[in-house]
Amino acid sequence: MEKAKAHLLQNYKQQPIVLERGLGSRVWDAEGREYLDLLGGIATCGLGHCHPEVVAAVRSQLEKLWHVSNVFYSEPQIELAGRLTAASGLQRAFFCNSGAEANEALIKLARKVQKDRGNPDRFEVITFENSFHGRTLATVTATGQTKYQKGFEPLPAGFPHVPYGDLEAVKKAVGPNTAAILVEPVQGEGGVRSAPEGFLKALRALCDEKGLLLLVDEIQTGMGRTGKVFAYQHEDILPDGISLAKSLGNGLPIGAMLCTEEAGKSLVPGTHGSTFGGNLIAATAANVVMRKVTDPQMLRDVTQKGDYFLSRLRELQGRLPALVKEARGRGLLIGVELFQDAAPFISKCRELGLLLNAAGEKTLRFAPAYTVTHDDLDQGVRLLERALKS
Ligand SMILES: *Cc1c(COP(=O)(O)O)cnc(C)c1O
Repeated sequence: MEKAKAHLLQNYKQQPIVLERGLGSRVWDAEGREYLDLLGGIATCGLGHCHPEVVAAVRSQLEKLWHVSNVFYSEPQIELAGRLTAASGLQRAFFCNSGAEANEALIKLARKVQKDRGNPDRFEVITFENSFHGRTLATVTATGQTKYQKGFEPLPAGFPHVPYGDLEAVKKAVGPNTAAILVEPVQGEGGVRSAPEGFLKALRALCDEKGLLLLVDEIQTGMGRTGKVFAYQHEDILPDGISLAKSLGNGLPIGAMLCTEEAGKSLVPGTHGSTFGGNLIAATAANVVMRKVTDPQMLRDVTQKGDYFLSRLRELQGRLPALVKEARGRGLLIGVELFQDAAPFISKCRELGLLLNAAGEKTLRFAPAYTVTHDDLDQGVRLLERALKS
């Protein structure tokens, strides 16, 4: 930790533990102390740490081939594109290495599609207040939180923000420059807030009416997290494009942009690319993830465990009504909003052996592995209760 403070860029507030090993929902620090990880990496390890089938598949691929240029074909990537398009109902997959890159691809897609349709003035992507879309200049501008943008001006043009869930505000924001709407089905980073029921459906109708692309950021909500493979599937719509990352590689870095056949026609050779995107190792891990999370039993488990956890957290709220304002979420993406700052409670939880983080100032975020047990969730509630009472 001394060396970290000496040499790492000090851009994170790091918790004072060095993590060394993990299995399922447990991780161990360098001193051998065990923690219950109900943050699941950071919503990245949906199948749990070091899932044996992921380890076996990746290990076997490691001995064959790691990386080739995207000017050549490779089988894990092709297989993954097939799995993702089959699961999403979209037709085209582009691979990158992170969420921000996947959103960059969506933004570039929207602008290029509108240019190709003969609408050169349509370059704006409407996004939502309190959203989170990444840290590159374009995606941090798409992000509807000024705290992430301050000091990096001038920001790229073309990202109006409107209140989340407010259809009238979206309609008012649509104008001659609008190319697309980018939305999270649940705002994860922004405090674990779900869009009102019917909101995505209404956005779909609005986009159809106005000739806009509907882009859905599924980086945190996708890959089974909310009990459907992709969260937009709760509303029975098909977006024009979606972005994926976080748990897609179960902890290995991989992102993806999926889009319709029609939209995908705009990204012809030379228009976009990524050196490492879709490399054989990350794609191999993602193939195991997609095989697992398209199993209906896995999705039922996520829903059932999420409902169970949420009901236990609501009981906790009942016992501590002066501290806990609300427990909310969908599937295994759950937030517990407090009446005060979350940070001291997160430290206390860690001291007690429970890992979680904050989404927004006052909300504790849980994104456990789908393989988490009821006993783990019970233990999490007990540890959280002790932390809150202390
Ligand atoms: C984490 C996240 C991102 C950014 O992903 P990175 O891999 O950190 O670039 C974008 N959108 C959402 C909804 C996220 O949760």
